[in-house]
Amino acid sequence: MKFSTVNDIRYLSFDIFPGYVKQAIFTRSGGTSPAPWNSLNVGSLVGDDLDNVTNNKRRLFEALSIDARSMFDVWQVHSSDIVIANQPHQQSSFPPEYKADGIVTDQPGVTLFMRFADCTPILLCDPKKQAIGIVHAGWQGTVKKAALHAVKTFQAAFGTDPGDILAAIGPAIGPDHYEVGENVIEQVKHAFGPQSDQVLLEHNGKIHFNLWEANKISLNEAGVTSVEIAGICTACNTADWFSHRAEKGKTGRFGALISLLQ
Ligand SMILES: [Zn+2]
Repeated sequence: MKFSTVNDIRYLSFDIFPGYVKQAIFTRSGGTSPAPWNSLNVGSLVGDDLDNVTNNKRRLFEALSIDARSMFDVWQVHSSDIVIANQPHQQSSFPPEYKADGIVTDQPGVTLFMRFADCTPILLCDPKKQAIGIVHAGWQGTVKKAALHAVKTFQAAFGTDPGDILAAIGPAIGPDHYEVGENVIEQVKHAFGPQSDQVLLEHNGKIHFNLWEANKISLNEAGVTSVEIAGICTACNTADWFSHRAEKGKTGRFGALISLLQ
């Protein structure tokens, strides 16, 4: 992976994807929002002025030279529901029309866009079928295996062979910072069975959940073997990333997008 900066907008991109895929996980740098949303906040439901959010979204699309009208986003609700985007939103609706936590497309004119602050961003590409996807997975989406459901949607919609899929797991709250309670532990054990030993870690007598590894396991279960993991903890790095837990809920959302080159 590498970091790039365009017009003060600093973003991370992954090495695993071919050059015709535009992809970015945007840091919080280069926007116009004041604290605690400083500065490139793209979340509309966190108390920030909507004019700032609109301006920030325009700036990040401009930084990647992508037409903002190509955007397709969803109302992220911690589900494992996946939407197939055949065309951009004809008009921007607020909140977005679809409630879902994954979006896939094989249309070059559609840019898939999502928002994060500790939950796991997952980017997907099938280079053979020229299809892409994006997934949002906090602990709920992870135990519901949203990433696996996204791969199944690639298979159904595009005839994808999961072995062809390239995947990247972006910055999210890391196992060092992600202590979880009994309810989460039970659901992780139910979802991951014997493999829960690989994702539930004891740390000073508390149990921590490794979202990065759990989502990698879900992708592997779906047949995806090529997975790049950023390994960046949002809570450790609040200068770069919004962290819901580290900033006690008073923070913004960073953007992530993927698009087939137009
Ligand atoms: Zn951390």
